[in-house]
Amino acid sequence: MICETQRQMHIRSLPKGVEGFVLVDGAQVAIERRACHLGGSRAWFLCPACNRRCAILYPVRCRLCLRLHYASEHEGELDRLLRKAVNHRYKHGQQQRGIGVPLPSKPKWMRWHTYIKARKKAEVIEMQIIEGFRSKLARRARESTRALTV
Ligand SMILES: [Zn+2]
Repeated sequence: MICETQRQMHIRSLPKGVEGFVLVDGAQVAIERRACHLGGSRAWFLCPACNRRCAILYPVRCRLCLRLHYASEHEGELDRLLRKAVNHRYKHGQQQRGIGVPLPSKPKWMRWHTYIKARKKAEVIEMQIIEGFRSKLARRARESTRALTV
């Protein structure tokens, strides 16, 4: 199962300064506070089943106890490239998600050098996607002609 589709409780949803135990779906879950490397501290749930530190509980166990996977673990090479391209465009000023629209023009706050570099990177990623689809289609065409001749 995919963990992004499951009901979850994040440690950040708790009020600040919570210590000891909290009740999650009627079960008592311990909270551990650990010092951060650059100062301060951070709270973690302790999974009631395996005692592992985790930031997200899928009531009332951790992701590993429930054998949940991230959606990205099931992506193929083209899906990863597509997600990378969409995120890259979004990061550089595109308002809507997707790569079917022209690349966005330079945002007012961005330097020309940065914009040109980002645009070239987007073009490289999108050419990889096109090549990937092209080779996938060619492979399918070969397989279907092979199936017809046998
Ligand atoms: Zn666990």
